[in-house]
Order: sequence, then structure tokens, then C-alpha cells
Amino acid sequence: MKPIDWKVTAQDGEARTGILRTRRSIIETPVFMPVGTQGTVKGVRFEWLEDEMDARIILGNTYHLFLRPGAEIIRKLGGLHKFTAWNRSLLTDSGGFQVFSLTDLRKLTEEGVEFRSHLDGDKKFLSPEISMEIQAALGSEIVMVFDECPPGDAGVEATRKSLEMTARWAERSKNRFDELQNSGMDSGFLSDSGIENSDFGLAFNEDKSQIVLSGRQALFGIVQGAGHLNLRKESLNRTTEIGFDGYAIGGLSVGEEKSVMYDVIEFLAPQMPKDAPRYLMGVGTPEDLIEAVQRGVDMFDCVLPTRNGRTGAAFTLGGKINIRNAQYATDEAPLDARCQCSVCRRYSKAYLRHLYQAKEMLAATLISHHNLAFFLDLMRQIRQAIKLSSFAEFRREFLNRIRDN
Ligand SMILES: [Zn+2]
Repeated sequence: MKPIDWKVTAQDGEARTGILRTRRSIIETPVFMPVGTQGTVKGVRFEWLEDEMDARIILGNTYHLFLRPGAEIIRKLGGLHKFTAWNRSLLTDSGGFQVFSLTDLRKLTEEGVEFRSHLDGDKKFLSPEISMEIQAALGSEIVMVFDECPPGDAGVEATRKSLEMTARWAERSKNRFDELQNSGMDSGFLSDSGIENSDFGLAFNEDKSQIVLSGRQALFGIVQGAGHLNLRKESLNRTTEIGFDGYAIGGLSVGEEKSVMYDVIEFLAPQMPKDAPRYLMGVGTPEDLIEAVQRGVDMFDCVLPTRNGRTGAAFTLGGKINIRNAQYATDEAPLDARCQCSVCRRYSKAYLRHLYQAKEMLAATLISHHNLAFFLDLMRQIRQAIKLSSFAEFRREFLNRIRDN
């Protein structure tokens, strides 16, 4: 039995829709996963994510939860689902990306990486094994291997060395992951009967009986290689040789040119296994999502909707606007007249601008809410366009509209 099931439901060029089933929810792809760094999607209640936006999967950050409140506390409290009361799917990253962002604070060896906590300066250590142990304690549906992420402009030699380390770490991650699954250390485990009775967040399709999941966690491999296509290919080969439940493209949107990012995706995605989900980590803007879907990517996550929401920036069909702008002081229109979210149905730009200027916390909450609703609705439109074989037209119209504004 497998931990997740993913099937293509429609294909339009390289773009594809699919159904991803985990032990806790059914997810239509391409999907955007809101980021829940500290066990919360900043400023946005789970009720809204579930009832209004119908988000079926969110992210948790291993690095942050490892430092605070700590994996053992979360394990004692029954895992991240039980602790946070989010009952749908969770994907956890490995902690590697955050640690490697702390360039001054870390020491890298074959064994793992030593770093100082950004909270209190305490010495901490992460390795493939420890990352798997933390992610088992968190009990997420999808676990990511512990990888090394070189800078976007890394040279050939540095990138090759890094991807070889990543390949060895991927193997170690998988070995420890299997041990943990076999010894019952996964806090989120659901037995078969658990799956039958759990809240999937939506009615099961009629083919429910045909898919039996193991109730265990799934493990995704990560392809690295910076902007070097031959190294990307080599990393892909080494990752698929080990064999994972899904495959991620890592190390993009880390400072390289957009054209490099699109070239890597265009080169890599069609060569990735056709029968497993493809996940582009940490990307991106609405344009990036559309460009990556067109090149064959199925899963995304990014902090942009909530990070921008906190600084007063709202995504709209006409492009990004900033609510601080004086022109909105008397603007009675919603953030986006075409958006159906509860913020746009009720509140004007003038009011949101006032909240922001008055430093009311509700400003960040409402704009973050709209932004997430906008991203999730964009993904629904993308899926619809693929199913109607009109994705190329949808893409052209969307990009033109943004350019015209
Ligand atoms: Zn809205």
C-alpha cells in the first residue's frame, strides 16, 4: 500500500490537472499551498482557509517548529495536526532551506549542519536523520528530504559538490524515514479504518473503494543543480534512482534571473516522472505559477500572499497594488472587483487603507486573507482552463492584463 495516490485527470500541452489523495484530504492539482511557518498561516484563521477558501493542504516549517516549541513538545501533544487543530493535509519542509539562509551562523559537514538559533543564539544541529525525526514527530502527510541548497549563482564546481552531498543526504533521509515509519514514530499515522472515518474536507468520490492508502507519511525527493541544466539532469537521475513518492524542484527563486528559473523548469519538469506530483518549492508570483504550470508543475508554496498582506500589498487581476497609496483614501471599490472573497464582498479600499495607516492588526489579516483567496482562486481557474484545453489562451489573457496595468 502506498501513502499517497496521484493521478492525472487532464492534460493540455505540458500543463496537467490531477487528484492527489493523502491520508487526510483530497487535493486537486495544480495546487497552491499556503505557508504555515509556525503552525499558523500568519493572520488567517483555519476556519477561513477551510470554509471559504477550501485549502486542502498547508505547509509547516521544520526549522521554526524545531526551535520553538520543539519537536518533543509537539510529539507529546499528539503531532502538529492535533496541536494546531488543522485536520487536513500538511507538508513539512526539511529545515535545510532556512538553515542555509543563515550563512553566517552555520558550519556544514558531511554529517549535517551546525547553526545558531536565530531566537537565542543556542547551538543546534540538523542532519538528514534529525530532520526525518522532527518531521515524524510533526506527523505531516508529506515529508521533504534534507537537502543542501546552493546559492542561485553558484558555479559549476560548487553546484556539483553540493548536489552530490544532496544525493547522499537523500539516501540517508530515506533510510531513516523508513525506519521511523516501521517503528511507529509518525505522530500523524492513520490506520485504514482511520482513513475511512477521518474528515477529508469534502465528499469522497465514488471510486473511494479502489484506493487504499497505507496511512503513513509520504517522502518527496528534491532536485538541485542551480542554473546548470546538465547538473539538474544528473541530480534528477540520482533522485529518481533512490525513488520517492513525489519530486520537488529546489533551489529556484533564490536570486537567479527569472529567465534562468523558467529555463530550468522547462528543461526539468517534462523529464520528471509522469506519474508522480512535481513540486516547485518556494515559488512564487501569480505569473510564476502560470509559467510553471505551463511547463508541467503540479504543486507550489510561497509566503508572498501573507508577507505582502502584512505590508499592505494586494494581488489583483490588474496586478499588485499597495493600499498605502494616497489614491485609495476615498476609493469605495473593493481590492478586486472580480474577487468573490469575503473581504472584497464587504470592505472598500478606503477602509482597508485607513486600517493600515492606523496600524490596526485587522489590516494585515484582511489583506492576507484576500491575497490567499486570490491565489487559491487563480489555481481553480488554472485547473478549469486545463480541463477545457484552453490553458494557453487563459495564460495569454492573464499575462496581458497584468502587463496592461
Ligand atoms: Zn478578495
